[in-house]
Amino acid sequence: MDPASAAFSRELLHVFWHEGMLSHDAGTGIFDTGQDPGFLEVLEKHPENADRVKNMVSILRKGPISPYISWHSGRPAQISELLSFHTSEYIGELIQADKEGGKELCSGTFLNRGSWGACLLAAGTTLQAMKYVLDGHGKLAYALVRPPGHHAQPSRADGYCFLNNAGLAVQLALDSGCQKVVVIDIDVHYGNGTAEGFYRSNKVLTISLHMNHGSWGPSHPQSGDIYEAGEGDGFGYNLNIPLPNGTGDEGYVYAMNKLVVPAIQEFKPGVVILVVGQDSSAFDPNGRQCLTMAGYRLIGQLSRLLSDQHSNGRLLVVQEGGYHVTYSAYCLHAMLEGVLNLLDPLLADPIAYYPEDKGFTVEVVNGIKQHWKDNIPFLKEI
Ligand SMILES: [Zn+2]
Repeated sequence: MDPASAAFSRELLHVFWHEGMLSHDAGTGIFDTGQDPGFLEVLEKHPENADRVKNMVSILRKGPISPYISWHSGRPAQISELLSFHTSEYIGELIQADKEGGKELCSGTFLNRGSWGACLLAAGTTLQAMKYVLDGHGKLAYALVRPPGHHAQPSRADGYCFLNNAGLAVQLALDSGCQKVVVIDIDVHYGNGTAEGFYRSNKVLTISLHMNHGSWGPSHPQSGDIYEAGEGDGFGYNLNIPLPNGTGDEGYVYAMNKLVVPAIQEFKPGVVILVVGQDSSAFDPNGRQCLTMAGYRLIGQLSRLLSDQHSNGRLLVVQEGGYHVTYSAYCLHAMLEGVLNLLDPLLADPIAYYPEDKGFTVEVVNGIKQHWKDNIPFLKEI
């Protein structure tokens, strides 16, 4: 598809944010371990730190995209709202951890003093953004939230995530009468929590493009491979697209056009949710993919086009990972330019220079497409 060939109306982007989310501090150590071996002079901040999001807020407020943005103040979620996705036992465990002053819930995932308030704000702010779209006040909304959420499963924390912000938004859309919701997750890691939450549902199509990292322990038993396709009524409605490490702009766009676009055309969602992590960029310490601003911009354009075609333009973007403190902000700016369908880049890429070898990605994507034709009932004809 060629986004430039379609006619677009200029929509404002509604950004939902609350500075209380900065109060989550996952500490320092060797990268995300929280540990000090005793022989290093400089320990680093946990990668999921407030600085990364301060720069995202700043670039949207002061960058060339700022005239296209309307800002909204976020709000905390009610405990009762969390139970639409999470179990009461798990929420009780988080509340208890907060009361006791903190806990490492799983590897690298620290709930410290101040974290729980930030978690509630991230969940509530995402719900507020979703509601804004569902109520028809705007079509394009972006929940600028942390801590991230897409690894959080109904009954456990995982990968710096406590509450599944996007999953809560999906459930709100369903509860508000939306028949079908699609989640496109381009964070470099598998959106296993969201997948798990809707694994038995044919009303929610979860699609995740990620690097080939596999399971990473007890908190993340899912593999992210193409055989994790859902169960029961949900069979076929969890589509994993593990891309070879090193996949860049061309490979991602190829995968979007060859796999994501036709799957969504068959599914016909009422709302599109784009779950975005800038950790798929070439410079991220936590990822091994090679997206640049140009790739993020194209993914934003394609997502906008899909929402215009299938969901009357209703598109919610939810923030997940992205750990390079500068480049994550730049890639966010570029992606949102795409979402706004601003076809001439507003902001130049200051550091894109990693090479991309597209060949292997094309081979893998074509293999996944054949697998879908052979095994996924609603995609036999794509
Ligand atoms: Zn990630």
